Amino acid sequence: MGQKILVVEDNELNLKLFCDLLRAHSYEAEPVRDGREALERARAFAPDLVVMDIQMPHISGLELIEQMKADPELRATPIMAVTAYAARGDEERIRDAGAEGYVSKPISVIRFVEAVRQLLEDAAAREHVSVAEDVSVPETGYEQSDQTESLDLPPVEEPEVEESEEEGKDEGG
Ligand code: MN
Repeated sequence: MGQKILVVEDNELNLKLFCDLLRAHSYEAEPVRDGREALERARAFAPDLVVMDIQMPHISGLELIEQMKADPELRATPIMAVTAYAARGDEERIRDAGAEGYVSKPISVIRFVEAVRQLLEDAAAREHVSVAEDVSVPETGYEQSDQTESLDLPPVEEPEVEESEEEGKDEGG
């Protein structure tokens, strides 16, 4: 329902793919091509989630994740890292830096969207659940399958607007 997602990605095609995909699922996607602008743009846009490419010129996604997690204003915003390297050490570094989610390129469309939705759900739950409870993020998307996945996209849920009939209460005295 129009949740805001900042997409930081230097590759123009990936940037477009991610944004198109998110918009098709009713998210409001804001593209950022230059990682050096990411923090400033995040503060201005106040996203519900950040999709963060790791391999970028000038500043790496890892550094940006660390900076965001050190920023009181941005630290609560979940980050989903996207990286071309699927090496275990890399995933660990990404998690250590503070990213809540991780998806490897080339992305599976289904997994990408599912991971986004899951992270947003977890973040929403965290806001409502008492701090005492441990909300752990399930480890999805780690094992890679090279099987061709059917690209059945779930239907985009549209909020049903019920038209309520206004009852003209006539309380004539
Ligand atoms: Mn890149």
